[in-house]
Amino acid sequence: MVEVDKDTCIGCGTCVALCQEVFELGSDGKAHVKEGADTSVECVKEAAEACPVQAIKV
Ligand code: SF4
Repeated sequence: MVEVDKDTCIGCGTCVALCQEVFELGSDGKAHVKEGADTSVECVKEAAEACPVQAIKV
């Protein structure tokens, strides 16, 4: 289960750059997990660690 805390996310796009198969920026300017994405991929952890505001919960 991977979640983005939308209140915390600042929409910097780092997670999307690191792991675009799982994350995308929504029309609200916040990252979210893509529908049906395989969240077991390694880059999810990288993205979570790289998020400047720790908005990604793995
Ligand atoms: S890296 Fe963090 S703050 Fe940046 S878009 Fe992703 S979830 Fe939001």
